[in-house]
Amino acid sequence: MSGFTVRGWCPDAWRPMESGDGLLVRIKPRLGRVDRDQALALCRLAQTYGNGLIDLTRRANLQIRGVSEAGWPALVAELVAHGLADPDAAREARRNILIAPDWTAGDDSHRIACDLIARMGELPPLPGKVGFVIDAGHAPILNREPGDFRIERNMSGDLILRAEGRECGVSVPFGLEADRLIALAQWFSQSGAARMARHGASLPDWAEGTQHPAPARPAIAPGGAALGVPFGRIEAAHLSRAITSGFRITPWRVLLPEGPGPASLPGFITDPSSPLLRVDACPGAPACPQAEVETRDLARRLAPAVKGRLHVSGCAKLCARSAPADITLTGRNGRFDLTTGAGPPALTDLDPAAVFAHFGVA
Ligand code: SF4
Repeated sequence: MSGFTVRGWCPDAWRPMESGDGLLVRIKPRLGRVDRDQALALCRLAQTYGNGLIDLTRRANLQIRGVSEAGWPALVAELVAHGLADPDAAREARRNILIAPDWTAGDDSHRIACDLIARMGELPPLPGKVGFVIDAGHAPILNREPGDFRIERNMSGDLILRAEGRECGVSVPFGLEADRLIALAQWFSQSGAARMARHGASLPDWAEGTQHPAPARPAIAPGGAALGVPFGRIEAAHLSRAITSGFRITPWRVLLPEGPGPASLPGFITDPSSPLLRVDACPGAPACPQAEVETRDLARRLAPAVKGRLHVSGCAKLCARSAPADITLTGRNGRFDLTTGAGPPALTDLDPAAVFAHFGVA
């Protein structure tokens, strides 16, 4: 198995990551969308080669888990055949682009992302987590989502280039957005930094600006056409029954169908007041080898009883959520530590029964 494992890299189709339940294969749909045929293919592939589940990531990507070493080459071949992975592994590794999920054909987000994708070969090798944000809708929607090199709107509605970690960006002439993104990535690569947000060096003069990004509009939430995905995990069997069109993938555990949805949607959240929308829980045990506890069944039972944001984490790495939650349960030696807000644990060494009792869950 170890031949497939490249620690410190983000996995993709060509570089699966070893996980507790087999290989994890990350799929980066072009422009954050899959058409109906691709979606049906994904469901079939998750059931044939994986554990029958599809995960949504915080970068609006998809993951198939539980893939065997023997099955991986055939899975990659199918992903390439369906246009779900680039046939070139280097281009696939560089194609880390988060695009405003409600783009429309021919708008600025679509135009710029297509330009950038067409020029992937001009990008230097970049650290695995480094990526681009194309947020050129009528107002920003991805302000809270990380991304090292960003195209956004300023207060006047004009497009700006902004480096992550800098408050302001610089105006970009129409049509040169991809040029400037590539130039900034080249400067970044030569400077040897790992992430733009922590990069203390002065930007090149042409990338320094005084343009503040406009305030963000709200993220897309379940309700109407938008479908919430509990914990970001979909059963492929449910998804294949729900698919009547292509869909967009958002970084908020929400799918945005491109056409009218079906009448019945088992497994999805359609109620914007669902308590599951206030819960973050990583895969936990047994899916993650570092997990010290099971997470998602416990989170699902606790959700209605907890006020505010709940985070259940399989270990102290806290992968599912970086900001403090109102209640955080962190696995340790098969039991849980309970933290409120950002402080130290208020209670430690709780078994699941004690956790349920604490929140009055029978
Ligand atoms: S928080 Fe720990 S258990 Fe959960 S996914 Fe991350 S490493 Fe695994």
